Amino acid sequence: MNRAYLSIGSNIEDRQDHLLGAVRALHAYESINVVEVSSIYETVPVGYTDQADFLNLVVCLETVLDAPELLSVCQAIENELGRVRKVRWGPRTVDLDILLYNNDNIESENLIVPHPRMSERAFVLIPLLEIAPAIRNPVTEKFYSEEEAVRDRGVILWKTVDGIGLLS
Ligand code: ATP
Ligand code: MG
Ligand code: MG
Repeated sequence: MNRAYLSIGSNIEDRQDHLLGAVRALHAYESINVVEVSSIYETVPVGYTDQADFLNLVVCLETVLDAPELLSVCQAIENELGRVRKVRWGPRTVDLDILLYNNDNIESENLIVPHPRMSERAFVLIPLLEIAPAIRNPVTEKFYSEEEAVRDRGVILWKTVDGIGLLS
């Protein structure tokens, strides 16, 4: 069985519905078991800053899918939930990114794992460390808890949800 961590974000209302809708949609696949869901965090946008605040969470899942198949599932869910692509890093209904897939290092045209920008992103690392405090970058073997970005104050705990409970 493969283990993956995904980051899910939304900054279009209803943000919580979009996040939890994506978690439910993942779990609805027979080939995917969501085994851990972080709390929901709110973040001021980075990059393209003229947009609403994001909500983010991280899930851990177990799957028989390989990484490209899992990416296809992520994109299908983004489409199902009505994501509109306009501006890069701009507003979106929901964004599902693969952070980690086992300890794999993937560098294909459509998929890079570990996610190339995750180490700099507090909105990714803080929820990730909530559910996996001792996790390391499989390539550099550095603990994610030691990344500078973890100390960012721009990410606040927004709501604790019983993520697994909502799946049953
Ligand atoms: P960022 O990747 O900086 O968070 P984004 O999530 O807004 O930006 P998208 O528009 O969702 O970017 O995705 C652009 C492309 O990134 C996708 O078409 C996908 O092929 C590619 N991609 C590469 N690596 C990954 C990954 N680990 N998870 C998800 N998409 C990835
Ligand atoms: Mg993203
Ligand atoms: Mg994405």
